[in-house]
Amino acid sequence: METVVGIDLGTTNSEIAFIRDGSPEVIPVEGEMIMPSCVGVDPNGRLLVGRSARNQMVSSPQSTILSIKRKMGQDVKVKLGGKEFSPEEISSLILKKLKTEAEAYLGQEVKKAVVTVPAYFDDHQRKATKNAGALAGLEVMRIINEPTAAALAYDAGLEENQTILVYDLGGGTFDASLVVVENGVVEVKASHGDTHLGGDDFDNLLVQHVARMFKDQHDIDLLADPKTKNRLWAAVEKAKRELSDAPFARIREEFVHGDLHLDTEISRIDYENMIRPLIKKTMGSVHQCLKDAGVLPSRIDRVILVGGSTRTPLVFEVISNELGIEPRHEINPDLIVAMGAAIQAGVIAGMETHSVLVDITPYTYGTRAVDQYRGRFISDVFVPIIRRNTPLPVSKSEAFATIVDGQEKVDVRIYQGEQPIASDNILIGNFFVEDLSDVPAGNEILLNLHLNLDGILEVTATEKRTGLSKTVKMDTSKHRDVFDLDKARRNLASLVDDEDLEAISDPFRGEGKEAILSQAKDLRKRAEALLGSIDEEDASQLQPLIQQSKTAVAEGDIERLAELNESLSDMLFYLED
Ligand code: AMP
Repeated sequence: METVVGIDLGTTNSEIAFIRDGSPEVIPVEGEMIMPSCVGVDPNGRLLVGRSARNQMVSSPQSTILSIKRKMGQDVKVKLGGKEFSPEEISSLILKKLKTEAEAYLGQEVKKAVVTVPAYFDDHQRKATKNAGALAGLEVMRIINEPTAAALAYDAGLEENQTILVYDLGGGTFDASLVVVENGVVEVKASHGDTHLGGDDFDNLLVQHVARMFKDQHDIDLLADPKTKNRLWAAVEKAKRELSDAPFARIREEFVHGDLHLDTEISRIDYENMIRPLIKKTMGSVHQCLKDAGVLPSRIDRVILVGGSTRTPLVFEVISNELGIEPRHEINPDLIVAMGAAIQAGVIAGMETHSVLVDITPYTYGTRAVDQYRGRFISDVFVPIIRRNTPLPVSKSEAFATIVDGQEKVDVRIYQGEQPIASDNILIGNFFVEDLSDVPAGNEILLNLHLNLDGILEVTATEKRTGLSKTVKMDTSKHRDVFDLDKARRNLASLVDDEDLEAISDPFRGEGKEAILSQAKDLRKRAEALLGSIDEEDASQLQPLIQQSKTAVAEGDIERLAELNESLSDMLFYLED
């Protein structure tokens, strides 16, 4: 069957994907999943596309072209290597590079593609994108909207009628789109954004902050020299990424000015205060988008995160607080659009395709802490550290502080669940860190949680000032399927009337559903492990059950999945030693 690829032709980066065994797979370009959408010529007049062009950006900005997507559809020319080119021509070089890499990877010629564009692209811009494809030797079978592709990645069959908000925050642009799926038809009802707002602005705020600190210390302006500015830019971008997973990030650059070194630490709290106004601004666009679509926030079934900058925890927090719905973040936000385009490409090629499947944690893990509210201490507060639906393996850290002077030890308690009161969740384990320094209250303790694919949670508590630390491993799989329906009912009984309770206590909703999915995965894994060692007759009974279980997951048929779980579990009872 002829391969049709899916391409996300982005402003900053581009990606290419195809369907293998029904699933979207991203094709690496020079070993990386993401290729900078950058074109240049080197001093010998050789054409550079992707990373190599991006690398010479600082030394030869006049011979490098970035963000050509912003000019698509315009009657303008850009200069490169002494010649003039149209935006289509430059974009075609990016597409050609992706096509060549895909051909080398797949070992066959690639002639057809589905290419994504922003929902707000007009006919000119769409036509220009098609032309760029043709110039690259690709027949663009279909141009699809980026938010539509993102929706397809989560729900390939578009079987469920739903209202989806796609929040796309990349390096240089922000878009909010309201997508409605009705009877298998997807429509972008409204789209609103800011073509000059993204992660680059966060970097800029950090660069200014660090440069100001250095100036205060040494009376030297690091931004005066373009090379130093660039070094600083790369260093803060790295720190910014670290702050998505940890409460502090260190920025160290040796000999940043003569003999002087740069060595500073940024806390997530300070960083978040810097970027909060920008994130609030994105929410302005979100509300405008909802208003244009005539949709109330309460009508949104799902919020999908797209773009690298959505890994910033503050994005998750602000969206959850303002819209009252936790965004979905399990599919890699850099690759989701290309994967969705591949699903559409697969459908065009007549293949069976399903949504992107990722290993995630269905539960939130966190700790118990004392919080202060209006001068009063509140104990037993649950602080989430690894949130549910996070892809595995994952490592996340948070900072805490002792609350009394001379506090010698802390009791680290780890809970699984979604309740705001820690003890309402399931206690996974606890341990003490003793012999802390004899210092006033506020002694910082860092807590790192690392959760792997087997459900082993490694918890490390570290006294920041001394490095004194303790690590304990906890097995979360023992608690995985525990869902106390009675307790949940009791909890809800005080809040809702009986009719609502009936609806809410449907075992196939919420955590009940997650438990069934997680049990199904566990059962399939155990069954697959058995296939090689059992006789043919048993295998011929087990194999279809595994397949049917996968199909039920892909189709979101939880009721059927629950039945299959029972059948699989019965068979395993007899087949396992
Ligand atoms: P995109 O344009 O979608 O490729 O997004 C690129 C932007 O995402 C850049 O500004 C990156 O610095 C940013 N980014 C990538 N990874 C992270 C991360 N872990 N935390 C915060 N921002 C990130």
